[in-house]
Amino acid sequence: MEGSVRVRFAPSPTGFLHIGGLRTALYNYLFAKSHKGGKFILRIEDTDQSRYVEGAEEDIIKSLAWCGMEIDESPENPGEFGPYRQSERKEIYHNFAQKLIENGEAYYAFDTTEELDQMRERLQNSGNPSPKYDSITRQSMKNSLTLSQDEVQKRLDEGEEYVVRLKVPRRETIRFEDLIRGHVSFESKGLDDQVLLKSDGMPTYHLANVVDDHLMKISHVIRGEEWLSSTPKHILLYKAFGWEPPVMAHLPLIMSPAGGKLSKRKAEEEGIPVNTKEYIKQHYEPEALINFLAYLGWSPGDDSEIHSLTELTSLFTLDRVSKGGAVFNHKKLLWYNEHYLREQTDKTLAERVSKIASEQGLEIENNEYLVHAINLLKERVSKVDEIITMGSFFFDDIDEYDEDALKKWKSDSSDLVNQYKDKIDAISESDFEAPLLKKNLEDVINANEVGFGKLMMPLRIAVTGQGFGPDLFASMELLGKETVLRRINKAIEKLD
Ligand code: GLU
Repeated sequence: MEGSVRVRFAPSPTGFLHIGGLRTALYNYLFAKSHKGGKFILRIEDTDQSRYVEGAEEDIIKSLAWCGMEIDESPENPGEFGPYRQSERKEIYHNFAQKLIENGEAYYAFDTTEELDQMRERLQNSGNPSPKYDSITRQSMKNSLTLSQDEVQKRLDEGEEYVVRLKVPRRETIRFEDLIRGHVSFESKGLDDQVLLKSDGMPTYHLANVVDDHLMKISHVIRGEEWLSSTPKHILLYKAFGWEPPVMAHLPLIMSPAGGKLSKRKAEEEGIPVNTKEYIKQHYEPEALINFLAYLGWSPGDDSEIHSLTELTSLFTLDRVSKGGAVFNHKKLLWYNEHYLREQTDKTLAERVSKIASEQGLEIENNEYLVHAINLLKERVSKVDEIITMGSFFFDDIDEYDEDALKKWKSDSSDLVNQYKDKIDAISESDFEAPLLKKNLEDVINANEVGFGKLMMPLRIAVTGQGFGPDLFASMELLGKETVLRRINKAIEKLD
C-alpha cells in the first residue's frame, strides 16, 4: 500500500464545517499521513446547487488550516486530477453516464412527475407499501428500455427533459468488506433504479462520487456511517463501469452525552459548539480539539492520551477505529484544552490575551504585570479567553461584587477584614509579599478564634470581587499594597 494511498475529504458546501465533518477529515488526514507518500485530497461536492451556502468552501479550508491539516490536492492547489470542484466536472459525468447507457447498464427515463406519482399510487393501491422504480416497474414506464430507438432519439432531439437511471439488478446480494464494520451485505431488491443524471443536467451524489473516486485514484473511502446505505449503490456502479472499488471504511456516529446521535439541536442543548468556526471564535486550542477528536472513535490501544497531530499520524490505524458510536464528552475536551493551554509560556499567553482583549474592545497591555497575572491565572482556567474574565480584577477596578460570592459576606466580615487591613497597613511596600500576607491572615483568625474561611472569603470578595480565583496572597502581592488597601476600604464601606 505504501506510496499509493490516496484519500479524500469530500464535503458538500451546504453549511459550515461541523465537528463530525472535521473528525472525518482528520481520520482521512491521519490515515494518509501514516503511509509514506500518502495523499490527502479535498474535493468539493457541490452538485446540489439548491443547497449551496455562500462561504462554506472557504470555511472548510480555513477550518482545516486552523487545525494544521495540510491538504495535498484541492481546488486551490490542484494536483493532476482536477478540477476538484464537482460543479466544474459536469462534462465528465455526462460522458460516463453516456458510457453506461451504451453498455446497457443505464437508461434514459422521460417520466414526468405526475407519471411517477401515478405509478406509486397504483402500486400502493395494489398492496405494495414501498413502490419503486425498479426492474419490474421500469418495464411499464417511459424510458429507453420501453420506447423505440427512434422515439428516444426524437425526444432527445426535441430537448425533452430526462434523467439517466442505473439498471439495478433484480435479485442480487451486494457484498463488500468494510475495514471498520467487517462484512456488509445489502439486497438489491430494496433499491430504486438510482438516478445518475438529474433533469437539470447535474449528476447525483452517487454518480459524481464514484466517477471522481475512480478518476482521482482514491484508494480508501473513509466517511461517516450515515453514508453506509449509499455504498451498495456505489458498488453496483463500480461494477457497471467495470472498475475496482476503493477500500471502504465507515466511521462510527458521534453520540450525544444524553443518548442518541449528536444532532445540531442536541449539541446546542448540551452547550457543545457544532461548527469548527465556533471553536475558533470561542478560542479553543486547535491542538486540543484535534487530540480530542482523534480519540472520538479511535484509540492507540494503550492508556496514553496526549498526542500532537504529528504523533497521531504515527499512531493511527483504521483497525483501531471502533464500530460503536462515540460519545462527545465536553468535559474531556476542556481537559485537553487546559493541557494545551498550560503548555504555553506565560509570555505567549500574554501576547494572545492582550490581542483577544483588544478584539473585545478592552485594553490589556502586554507587559510584565500581565505575564505575572497569567502565571497565577492559567492553572485555573479552561480556555484562554477566561483569563480575561477571571482575571478582570487584575486589569480593572471592581465595580460590582459577584452575587453568589456576596452570600459569604457575613455580619462579622467587615470587622475581620478591618482587623486584617490594619495589620497589613503596617507592612512596608517592599515586604508586601504573599507569605507575609498569609501569616497576617493566620494571626487574625487565631486571635479571633474563627475558621480560615471566615476571613479568607470576605477578603477575596473585597480584593477580587469574586468567590474564587487564583491564589489570593500572590494576587495581592501583584496588585500591590495601595490597590489592596483601597479595595478593602471600599468593600467595607459598600458591604457593611
Ligand atoms: N458529499 C458527501 C458529504 O457531504 C461525501 C460523502 C462521501 O465521503 O462519500 O459528506
